[in-house]
Amino acid sequence: MLIATWPFGKIATDLALAKLAAGGSRLDAIETGIREIERQSCDGSVGLGGKPNAAGYAQLDACIVDGPGRRSGSVAGLEGIVHPISAARALLEHGKHAMLVGEGARWFALDHGIASVPIDELSAKKQAWRARDRSQGPQTSGHDTVTVLLRAADGHLAGGCSTSGAGGKLPGRVGDSPIFGGGLFVDDEVGAAGATGIGENVMRYAATCLIVERMRSGMTPQQACEDVVHHIARQDPRGYQLDVCFIAVDKQGRVGAAASNSVFPFAVTTATGSRVLEVQPVTPR
Ligand code: ASP
Repeated sequence: MLIATWPFGKIATDLALAKLAAGGSRLDAIETGIREIERQSCDGSVGLGGKPNAAGYAQLDACIVDGPGRRSGSVAGLEGIVHPISAARALLEHGKHAMLVGEGARWFALDHGIASVPIDELSAKKQAWRARDRSQGPQTSGHDTVTVLLRAADGHLAGGCSTSGAGGKLPGRVGDSPIFGGGLFVDDEVGAAGATGIGENVMRYAATCLIVERMRSGMTPQQACEDVVHHIARQDPRGYQLDVCFIAVDKQGRVGAAASNSVFPFAVTTATGSRVLEVQPVTPR
């Protein structure tokens, strides 16, 4: 069972399933699927063709987790690296650290042979940063994330995500996607959950960790996703105007999805078929 955010997530889940069928591992499947979204820069929100920050260049976030042993790798604020998900995977395999950011993440990716493009001189970036219209503040002119969750035939779980984050973000802004328990959480005993939407409204509540904990307490993935939207809306000054969407899969392979205030299309792929489904926004309580 594979579930992914947005209709373009189906490209990733289909490729991931093919990778598994060809004998690839859980992580091979997740990485292969997400690499293709990064390559295509689907929706202009993932990969180097994704949304630029307020100073005009892309800083990318990605994360990958394998359930058994909670092996994890996460990169944030990555510049000029073609496949952030592969940088995250290399960090996972390296085994020593769970997360790298900025320049260190780029050095690590280069050191591991991950394709790169030249990045502008720091002084040019500083100028762009100074020239930006400070009165506007950070803009959120579009954003999306590809998040893929996998429950393999043997019951083990894995997940990954990749994004350019919020369009117009301040340089250095890290979204929810690379934060464990923010945009992605995988617990091999229970289930996995992922997010897309305004990262600040996800990470401040450790939303995907909450979803998994609700599944641990007996909720279905659908109930858990919806309940966490209500939980956040109850506490947040924005109420339901949160622009957040969740997906989840449990150890049994059941899936769920929920959205705060918009229709949310997502992809579901199994050995017997692959579809784009959608949920309506939750009904406010
Ligand atoms: N959650 C992402 C971020 O805030 C953006 C998105 O998924 O729409 O970085």
